[in-house]
Amino acid sequence: MPTTPTANALPRRPRWRSLAILALCLAPMLWPVQQLADRYYRNELASQNRQTLDLYVANLLGTLHRYETLPQILSGLPALRHVLEAPADKQAADNANVLLKQISQQTGAEVMYLMDANGDTLAASNWDQKDSFLRRNFAFRPYYRDAVDGRLGRFFGLGTTSAKRGYFFAAAVRDGERVIGVLVVKVDLDHTERLWGKTPEQLALTDEYGVVILTSRPDWRYRATRALSPSEHQAIEANLAYPTRDPQPLALDKNAWVVQSRAITETGWTASLLAPRSLIDRPVRSVLAIASGALLALMLGLGLMMQRRRNYLDRIAFEARARQELEMRVAERTSALERLNTRLKQEVLEREHAQQKLFQAQDELVQASKLSALGTMSASISHELNQPLGAIRSYAENAEVLLDHQRTDDARGNLKLITELTARMASIIAHLRAFARRDHHAPESVALQPAIEDALALLAKRRRAMDVELIRDLPDAPLWVQAGETRLRQVLGNLLANALDALTEKANPRQLWISAEKTAQGVNLYIRDNGPGFTREALARAREPFFTTKTRTQGLGLGLAICETLMRALGGELVLGNHPQGGALLTLRLLPARPGANLQPPEEFA
Ligand code: ADP
Repeated sequence: MPTTPTANALPRRPRWRSLAILALCLAPMLWPVQQLADRYYRNELASQNRQTLDLYVANLLGTLHRYETLPQILSGLPALRHVLEAPADKQAADNANVLLKQISQQTGAEVMYLMDANGDTLAASNWDQKDSFLRRNFAFRPYYRDAVDGRLGRFFGLGTTSAKRGYFFAAAVRDGERVIGVLVVKVDLDHTERLWGKTPEQLALTDEYGVVILTSRPDWRYRATRALSPSEHQAIEANLAYPTRDPQPLALDKNAWVVQSRAITETGWTASLLAPRSLIDRPVRSVLAIASGALLALMLGLGLMMQRRRNYLDRIAFEARARQELEMRVAERTSALERLNTRLKQEVLEREHAQQKLFQAQDELVQASKLSALGTMSASISHELNQPLGAIRSYAENAEVLLDHQRTDDARGNLKLITELTARMASIIAHLRAFARRDHHAPESVALQPAIEDALALLAKRRRAMDVELIRDLPDAPLWVQAGETRLRQVLGNLLANALDALTEKANPRQLWISAEKTAQGVNLYIRDNGPGFTREALARAREPFFTTKTRTQGLGLGLAICETLMRALGGELVLGNHPQGGALLTLRLLPARPGANLQPPEEFA
């Protein structure tokens, strides 16, 4: 039974599953990519931020440096010293106020003011403003103490009256070794904050306590970036640098920011630039997306290749299977044909064998019939031979007597008769030989009349004994037919013997007609008797071997069967029938032949 290719195909494994596993295996490859990209963009950002931070710090320091030396220079001005020397001089104080205002306007400083040795403000640039520093005491400020101690006072803080941020520079005013006052310049730092603008990176400037004093994020302002010690708390409370005495901690998510810091040693501050992590994450994500895309494309390409290869292998396997199946079928068909062929050959052999056996059986039948005819004939033949033998003996004895009496002519006459009689005997013996021999010769030209005469001669004695009248109607000219000498005589002998057999059952007059005529097809010979004729059954079956109705003469039932076979072999035909006026009528249809040379049968006399 032919098997379908799909039935043979192996169950397909899900290819995409193995691809997914492969992708999972390759996914860790993305991790180093992510790390590399992260490091790269972090470095990029760091170097960029470092530059920005450097610029900012430089700008800030530039601003501070501008005012750093100013208090010292101003402390030498006589107009200001005079106020310290004569605090009650109202005019001197007014002059000092105007002077300070002029200088602060020229230099861009926020406020300038002069304190006496106790920290009381005697002159100030904002003398004419509502929140003027005049008559206020700032001795609690660290810059005051620094200046009194002979150092340059530096301080960041909120103005106690203005509540405005600023950086304070302070220098002592001396009279010889004695400190007679302190001159302070307050610098506005708000603009350095505004400078920053709206960028995703944030600025945070912390003082020595880690408290944010300048920042681009207002909510970070005045918050502590680290834990404060109790002494620091005390200092903060004393300095009043911030609007609050207790700065709240600023908890920054370290992972959310990339921090770049720089210490400013001059002021003890630290400038920090905080860049949101998203600035790195975004390009890293892009790199990862590109890498994953490439990986996916690689996977897909690989999958496609695998699929194509799989399909190709499947197709090859399928074709191989189909070819194998075809070869198997061809082999099966071939072996079936071979078996059939062998059987046919065997059958042909069996048929040939059977046919040979049949031919053999037929030959044997013919032979048996001949032998039987020979047996039947031997009696009449011995009678036929005994008769001339007796005659020859008496002719010979007579010839002896005649020679004794010198009657040589008579004796010669007897010898001549003896010669004739021996010729007759030779003829009878030749008939006998002809019947017994198997004849397979091709048809030859045979004259019909002498054959009839021969056959009649063999039955002459019996015919005469039965007193059968013979009525012959044969043309004088020889009728040439295609036949074998012996075979034709055998047929005629059988037919005539059958006629005599039939006539034995009838009382006199017994008659036998023999006639012949030329027809368009050849020559027809008729043998008719006035016996009982064929019965209906005999007419239908007379040609069958061993069919006989004869009991008295012990017929073999072979006569007509042999005649039929012989006639067929000669190309002629034997027709059985009854005459309308009673008795059997047998017709022999023979093929015509060209006139031959031998009117007398040659074989017997050879
Ligand atoms: P057999 O002579 O041994 O019987 P045949 O084959 O010669 O065998 O004849 C077959 C039968 O045909 C005969 O038994 C007989 O019944 C019938 N038959 C043959 N010749 C004649 C005839 N001339 N008249 C009547 N019947 C005949």
